[in-house]
Amino acid sequence: MAKTLVFLEHHEGAVQKGSLGVLAKVDGAHGVVIGSGVRSIADGLGTLVWSADDERLEAPLPQPRVDVIAKLVADEGYDTVLFAQSVLAADIAAGLAARLGAGLNWGLIDFDGEKGRAPQLQDTVVVEVGWTSPVRLGIFRAGSLDAVALSGTSEVRDAAVELEDFSTLAEMVEQAHAEQQGPSIEDADVIVAGGRGLGQPENFSLAEELAKALGGAVAATRAVVDAGWYPYSAQVGQTGKTVAPKLYIALGISGAIQHKVGMQGSNTIVAINKDPNAPIFEFSDLGVVGDLHAIVPKLTELVRAKRGS
Ligand SMILES: Cc1cc2nc3c(=O)[nH]c(=O)nc-3n(C[C@H](O)[C@H](O)[C@H](O)COP(=O)(O)OP(=O)(O)OC[C@H]3O[C@@H](n4cnc5c(N)ncnc54)[C@H](O)[C@@H]3O)c2cc1C
Repeated sequence: MAKTLVFLEHHEGAVQKGSLGVLAKVDGAHGVVIGSGVRSIADGLGTLVWSADDERLEAPLPQPRVDVIAKLVADEGYDTVLFAQSVLAADIAAGLAARLGAGLNWGLIDFDGEKGRAPQLQDTVVVEVGWTSPVRLGIFRAGSLDAVALSGTSEVRDAAVELEDFSTLAEMVEQAHAEQQGPSIEDADVIVAGGRGLGQPENFSLAEELAKALGGAVAATRAVVDAGWYPYSAQVGQTGKTVAPKLYIALGISGAIQHKVGMQGSNTIVAINKDPNAPIFEFSDLGVVGDLHAIVPKLTELVRAKRGS
């Protein structure tokens, strides 16, 4: 049986939902909390949790965290280290892979203690993945595990913090939070969602302009989020958010089942797609077959004219 350590990412004094999901997923997994003033975060998780609490770990930088985890792996004999997907987790996992010569499987949706499962080929198949290295690293896909509330007393142990010289060279200069304009997709009455049919990230401005004219919010499919065209927070579907606005306008979205499950509760669904056989038309109230690049700017103009904005 694997001896598993889960990196517990935290924000404002609480462990992130994704990390809790990974910890709950693997029977007998231990956790590690890393930061400054973080010991109390390790409480109440019902398992052994290492606390690496040191002011040099205050900034969420990856290399010092690689040092802490690499030492735990060496000293405590962990053979598996798992992460929930995030920018920080990806940086730490990549650093650990290099440091330990360990294999890293990315995008996991399952792990049974030996093998993992991960969607591949643009999510058309789910394959079994394994490791050939003695230490196994894995990152779970964002949103692939249900949020869980863990309880029970943690056995909190202090982890040694011995940082390499090169690990302290980077300095966090500033941390900023993205400002959100307009309603969130969970709250909006109108959502304009963009898919791969937009063609390129810049064309999301078409969705943004239409959403602005309608006083709505912009959502996206998994395909475009994975491609880095739009932030993950806008993803609708099985591994994203579930929304139920009064009006959902889908631009260049094929209507895959994993997208449908996140938006089928919308009151009125309008789809614009150039393929008359696109599955989205099967569950749309109004379908427009045509090139969105020609249709959407005109639609936005009409809405503006009608609303006098
Ligand atoms: C485990 C798992 C979880 C997943 N979770 C999600 C999820 O949460 N959310 C999600 O969205 N997907 C999810 N997916 C992915 C899903 O299967 C699809 O791959 C994805 O939804 C497709 O995105 P898309 O519609 O943007 O792209 P595509 O399927 O490539 O569709 C693009 C569409 O645009 C149309 N088009 C192209 N050019 C134009 C044009 N000029 N004008 C008009 N139309 C045009 C095309 O005809 C096509 O229908 C998941 C998959 C798996 C396996």
